[in-house]
Amino acid sequence: MKDKGEQMKIKICNKHGPFRGEKCPVCGDEGKLMLNDWEVEALSRILTGILRHFPENFNVKLDQHGWANINDIAEGIKGKNKKFRFLKPYHVEAFILTDTKGRFQYDKSAGKVRATYGHSINVDLSDLPSENIPRKLYYAIVPEEEEFITEIGIKPGERKWVHLSDSYEEAYISGRHRTDNPIVLEIDAEKLINDGRAIYRANEKIYITKEIPPGYFIKAPIKEVEVPKEELDQIEEEKRRRKEKERRKMEEDLGMK
Ligand SMILES: [Zn+2]
Repeated sequence: MKDKGEQMKIKICNKHGPFRGEKCPVCGDEGKLMLNDWEVEALSRILTGILRHFPENFNVKLDQHGWANINDIAEGIKGKNKKFRFLKPYHVEAFILTDTKGRFQYDKSAGKVRATYGHSINVDLSDLPSENIPRKLYYAIVPEEEEFITEIGIKPGERKWVHLSDSYEEAYISGRHRTDNPIVLEIDAEKLINDGRAIYRANEKIYITKEIPPGYFIKAPIKEVEVPKEELDQIEEEKRRRKEKERRKMEEDLGMK
């Protein structure tokens, strides 16, 4: 459930609309460039930032269910970032329509978008689909958390919801972003729901819930998981950044700076 790095430009085909990459996937047309690689990556960060964490920094208002107007988003980004002076609502729309990670929900007729997971601000997501939830879901923890979580259950951390994966593999890979040895828990989603605790579908692979008390999960039997190369690179990069941050913090604490 960690967002993967993305550096894919967005082009537009006259006949088939916006697409990611070099050629229209429907007709093979070269299309016209809308956003270059850098712009897509930056917009990805800004847009998830606005919709999950700090809308007010860009003068955007979210309603109680987390929806924001895409005109306001385009205006907000344009006013805040010189490199996006050209930005129009249709660029934002093209980005959302071609997002490959299922992070957003778009209401075209209302001109509104929201993030379906990852929030650190309070939004009411209880209008997401809650039917046909898989009977088992998965959640990765770091070994140091095991005892604590067994006692008190799974509660949201810096995010407002607990994020669950639909497979052992997905949970393991997301856990690898935090530790070399994640422990994957198997969640009895069916029992949670039967006991009146709602689970919502954020996208096909990610589910969210408010909290999971003890008694609703067990340690899943360990499986061998092959982590994709692209993901491993990103994990290494994150590790490097964390270490760098720790080093700087230590230098500061020691008065070396
Ligand atoms: Zn086309």
